[in-house]
Amino acid sequence: MTHLKNDDIKDKDQIAVFDTNIFLTGIDFNLFKSIIYTTPYVIEEVKVSKYMEKNRHILNKIYAAIESEKLRIKIPSIKYIRDVNKKSKITGDLNALSNVDKGLIALTLELSVNYHQKVNLYTNDYSIENVCSELNIPYTSLYKDGIEKKIIWEIYCPNCKTIHKTEDFNKICEICGLKLKRRPKNNIIY
Ligand SMILES: [Zn+2]
Repeated sequence: MTHLKNDDIKDKDQIAVFDTNIFLTGIDFNLFKSIIYTTPYVIEEVKVSKYMEKNRHILNKIYAAIESEKLRIKIPSIKYIRDVNKKSKITGDLNALSNVDKGLIALTLELSVNYHQKVNLYTNDYSIENVCSELNIPYTSLYKDGIEKKIIWEIYCPNCKTIHKTEDFNKICEICGLKLKRRPKNNIIY
């Protein structure tokens, strides 16, 4: 019998929700005992990068998983998208989140409310993690061995959202006078 390295993932939750960056790691869905959910917008994002050989393989795995009902695609209700918008305004992550991100958080929220099951959002996105903490949504990032993690920081103004030079970290935004912050620009490099 083969022992899987990622055994710990299996029993963690009854519903797993996947972000685009999790699909793109090429992770084996069978490592998850649970049903996996995502939004159609996430699948669209994976499709965008399908011209890469590796991602075409990932897309085929996704289609097979939809077929076997291991993976379910669901559009989040507008009510939960509104909740996410409200919360991300509070955390200051609103502009850092794409509509795809918001939809994914909304879906996770909706599943946990409607199914009364343990739901866990898998993502490697820093801003999504911030909003999840705020909404008390459990999340996990999947930086596993074999994936080289390298963070490139982006310096930005939390108020006017302008991007600044790396050396300006902790300095003051010349447009609005607020202290600049940093966030990871991209999380995974293969
Ligand atoms: Zn500014």
